[in-house]
Amino acid sequence: MKALQTLFKTNDRVSSLIARLALGLVMFPHGAQKALGWFGGYGFSGTMGFFTGQLVRSVFDYSGLGKELSPFLLLDYVAPYEFPPSDRRRGVEAHPHKGFETVTIAFQGQIEHRDSSGGGGRIGPGDVQWMTAGSGIVHEEFQSEEFTRKGGVFQMAQLWVNLRAQDKNTRPRYQNLQRAQIPIVGLPHEAGNARVIAGEYGGSKGPARTFTPISLWDVSLSSGKSADLPLPDGHTSAFLVLSGEVAVNGQADAVECNLAIFARTGNGINITARRDARLLVMDGEPIAELVVGRGPFVMNTYADIQ
Ligand code: MN
Repeated sequence: MKALQTLFKTNDRVSSLIARLALGLVMFPHGAQKALGWFGGYGFSGTMGFFTGQLVRSVFDYSGLGKELSPFLLLDYVAPYEFPPSDRRRGVEAHPHKGFETVTIAFQGQIEHRDSSGGGGRIGPGDVQWMTAGSGIVHEEFQSEEFTRKGGVFQMAQLWVNLRAQDKNTRPRYQNLQRAQIPIVGLPHEAGNARVIAGEYGGSKGPARTFTPISLWDVSLSSGKSADLPLPDGHTSAFLVLSGEVAVNGQADAVECNLAIFARTGNGINITARRDARLLVMDGEPIAELVVGRGPFVMNTYADIQ
């Protein structure tokens, strides 16, 4: 089994986030980000910040946990939040990404996306947008018109996945993964289920095409039930608790918004739900290359970024 290495209580980290967001929010309304340069603040690389002000959580980012969590670079999470109806769409105006992939997982609410490669679409509850920025893309991300007008509960995560040096300049690609395409696989002993976005569980393959081996599962576990999740030896493995509470390997309890990070050695992890729980499970083969990032650009050397 993979030993639990760290249990991050992301709540502890909100204060530095607010400072970053303050910058982002000042910049956003006036479209001043271009004038100030894309590197003025971090709040708009973790772009979900714009949707929710200080409600977004920076679960991790590459400047802090880049080596430990490779190939994953960043995770921003908006816990469920009720937006009132509005006539002004909330979101992020056109901004660039390069050298990696952004994966937006919609749990509640709706966002729309348009990019410079002609990709675009709307994602709602259960849908996932897997965007390969590759050689470079400019896109915008906004709450949908319908959601803006009606208001409602919004809950979304954005995960950044690194690309190997050989893939960093790949052609931009957009995968709109609809809820119906994402298989739901029962866990043994009726413990719950796993939605397989990427990778394979219980013989079912997720629809996402990835450049390196990656699993991304949305796991629901019923109160009192237990499950072994098969995560391969040598891989980076972690999960974010979206709701509820789980005992991890019988060692520690993780609650909402906690991030559990596991040792790479060993096979699989064990979770037991203290109450009904939902987890976003991330697993991937590490990319053993230098990560050099500046906001929305993540490359291998400083020269690549210039
Ligand atoms: Mn973006």
